[in-house]
Amino acid sequence: MYPIHEIFESLQGEGRHTGRPCLFIRFAGCNLACPWCDTDHSPRLRLSANDLLARVEASGAKSVILTGGEPLLLPLLPLVLGLRERGVWVAIETNATIEPEPDLREALSYIATSPKLGAPIALTRADEVRLVVADGVDAAWCEAVRARLPATDYYLSPCDDGTRLRVHEAITLLGRLNAADPTPPWRLSLQTHKLADIP
Ligand code: SF4
Repeated sequence: MYPIHEIFESLQGEGRHTGRPCLFIRFAGCNLACPWCDTDHSPRLRLSANDLLARVEASGAKSVILTGGEPLLLPLLPLVLGLRERGVWVAIETNATIEPEPDLREALSYIATSPKLGAPIALTRADEVRLVVADGVDAAWCEAVRARLPATDYYLSPCDDGTRLRVHEAITLLGRLNAADPTPPWRLSLQTHKLADIP
């Protein structure tokens, strides 16, 4: 049984798949405690892989995002294989502290990760890296993450701690990171679901 906080339909708000209609499964529990975390990942219900597959089928969703908390704390392979057998695109959002087992990595359609300052990076590669621009985040750390973690896309996401959104800090940092590169690898990612006032 998986501990789950919520299941909801919305649009992906961030990164390469911004605007994509998805069913989100938010798993409960995280192995980090980021001071600006605004995600409630407390357990509200327990569902098996079959329960979740039935819910996804009933929703008709063709894209599912597994998020948290930290979903890689859980044994996700039966669920992901079941979804893929049903033709569902399955993305995961992880904090990069856990490397998925090879079978799970192979089964996932897309890996988006948001490593956290001061936390270890165990993930070996990803499709998309999103770094939250919060206290202490600077160009040296961003470049160290990029060197450590190969990915197709790299984004800076302004921290929203409930009192201010650090857009200008993120844009300044973006300028520093991209200044010397003829093909600027870093881009801005805003939490468009918040701007649109959707879940
Ligand atoms: S890794 Fe994500 S869910 Fe976990 S505490 Fe940090 S921001 Fe919150």
